[in-house]
Formats: sequence, structure tokens, C-alpha cells
Amino acid sequence: MNILISACLLGEPVRYDGQDNHKKAEHLHNVLHPLKGQGRLIAVCPEVAGGLGIPRAAAEIMGGDGHDVLAGRARVIDNTGQDVSAEFIAGAHQALDIARRSGAGAALLAARSPSCGSRQIYDGSFGGRLIPGVGVTVALLEQHGIRCFGPDEIGELLEWIGEE
Ligand code: SF4
Repeated sequence: MNILISACLLGEPVRYDGQDNHKKAEHLHNVLHPLKGQGRLIAVCPEVAGGLGIPRAAAEIMGGDGHDVLAGRARVIDNTGQDVSAEFIAGAHQALDIARRSGAGAALLAARSPSCGSRQIYDGSFGGRLIPGVGVTVALLEQHGIRCFGPDEIGELLEWIGEE
């Protein structure tokens, strides 16, 4: 089974601040290296795929989580006050499309992102407070049966795809 992966975890400098999350994913390298060699890691950055630039303003979900954004009950707002919900939703659909076309049945996604967070997200206050919830891309992937895991759940991911 192929695995969709946040491009920043593979070292691509696609974060809002122009950085990557390679350092934060160091504990994953031994596991990811063979999967990458087999061509089974499908990298995507939903925010860039949705049309946002690098760098870009930091954004948080206000009024709920990714499921609420998809349902129109919450919005993604950047720290300049701009509503970027449409770009986040477009990026989520791009990620789903890429996952389907590449046969990815699971995803390994960066933590706490308003797109890629799979357990916690920031609460929309830009005050650094975390709440339980998922990002917009995780919400859409899971609504379509693609199981999402965070970087601290690599064991669960390998078990789920039958490779522990
Ligand atoms: Fe990484 Fe996801 Fe943010 Fe892109 S949207 S920089 S892949 S966490």
C-alpha cells in the first residue's frame, strides 16, 4: 500500500514560513527510507496544492475543526485576517485526488497543522493554544476512508498497513 505523506516531513521547504519539518521527522527516517526507496511515499503539501504561496501567512481554523470547515460551519483565517478557507478546501481535494490516483490508503501527516493535523489543531486565537481536532485535509481524507496518522504514530501506521 502506498502512503500519502506531508511534503514538509520529507524535507521539502513548503511550510508557511518557508521551512521544512525534516528535523521534527528525524525519528522516522529509518522507517521512511525503505518506503521511499520502494516509491511508496507520495508527497503532497495541501496548502501549496490549493494555491497558497511560500512563504505565506500563518493560518488557523476558527470556530471548529477541519470537518466544520468542509461543512461550512467554520473558517480558516490567516494572521492578516484573510479568509483562506477556499484554498484549504481546494488543497484537501487535491490531496484526496493524488491519494486516489496513487493508491494511497493511509497518510502520514505533520502534526498540529490546520491542513495536516490529525489529533490536535490550534484554537484559532493565534495564542498557541491547542484543541482536539483535525485539519481540513485530514477531515476530507478520513471522510473518504483514508486513515491518517501523525508523526508520533508511526508504529500504529505500520501495524495498520501490515508491515510492523
Ligand atoms: Fe506541511 Fe501540510 Fe503544512 Fe504543507 S500543509 S507545510 S505538508 S503541514
